[in-house]
Amino acid sequence: MALLDLSDVTVSIGALTPLDRIAFSIEAGEIIGVVGESGSGKSLTAMAVMGLLPLIGGRITSGAVRFADVELNRLPERDYRALRGRRIALISQNPMTSLDPIRRVGEQIDQVSMMHLGLGTEQARLRSVDMMRQLRIPEADVVHGNYPHQLSGGMKQRIVIAMALAADPELIVADEPTTALDVTIQAQIIQIMVEMARRKNVALMLITHDMGVVAQACDRVVVLYAGRVAETGSVERIFAAPRHPYTKSLIGCIPVEGLPPGGLKGIDGVVPGVANYPTGCRFHPRCSLAQDRCKIEAPLLRALDEGAAACHLAGDPP
Ligand code: SF4
Repeated sequence: MALLDLSDVTVSIGALTPLDRIAFSIEAGEIIGVVGESGSGKSLTAMAVMGLLPLIGGRITSGAVRFADVELNRLPERDYRALRGRRIALISQNPMTSLDPIRRVGEQIDQVSMMHLGLGTEQARLRSVDMMRQLRIPEADVVHGNYPHQLSGGMKQRIVIAMALAADPELIVADEPTTALDVTIQAQIIQIMVEMARRKNVALMLITHDMGVVAQACDRVVVLYAGRVAETGSVERIFAAPRHPYTKSLIGCIPVEGLPPGGLKGIDGVVPGVANYPTGCRFHPRCSLAQDRCKIEAPLLRALDEGAAACHLAGDPP
């Protein structure tokens, strides 16, 4: 049984339907990249998994989110709260949304294992310092007593990763965890997070707009476009033979060493807003391969030899 399984999850916010039949699963210990541009539905997918949709007036209107043997979308908020932080942890974009600015960072890590694992104060402190060392925080003993404002952005995000790992969760949802960081340390933080996830056999749902991060870190990838799954598959297959033109465009956006300034390819146009989703295939206004049929008929997500793709031409690599 998959650790996490989303089957045809549709999310509504008022009269709008920003997520349409999202389907993918994550096995225990697996690292999945959920990728797409802004507005593709990545963060909403994370919120659907974390049970946080009510915060923005959203709800799952059909489909199911299953975590191990628990149907999350039927779980009362009290039970969800017990699961969050303990079995499913969240790493958000900005470390300061997770850190209390007026408490020592070490105490904030300690608190997670005291609350969820029932450890005593000293046991929790030792565990936190050990975790901080594994996350390559220099002088972990000293940093344990620091306040967030004394640390760099990269160090703060390592503290947040330590907090996420502190209760030995089975799944971590990391929502663009390096977006707020200096570009020079982004790769390093991803590498440390992935290393720790592998070492502890924690499944990771890594949300990113960057196919380069997916190539660096993930086992499998879910490509979202305008609230629908465009393609899923192993990282090897997706990079070797992308079946959806959008996936191919995202791969084309990865910076190539030695490329002259301005030589980086982007994708023409923008993701449509949820109130203006086009008919048929939602990618058709930006797709160089679009045919008349694409403007009318929405392609179904079809299983392929390995993975799945939602494109009328998906039988042949574009
Ligand atoms: Fe392009 Fe048509 Fe495929 Fe959509 S269904 S990605 S418009 S070829």
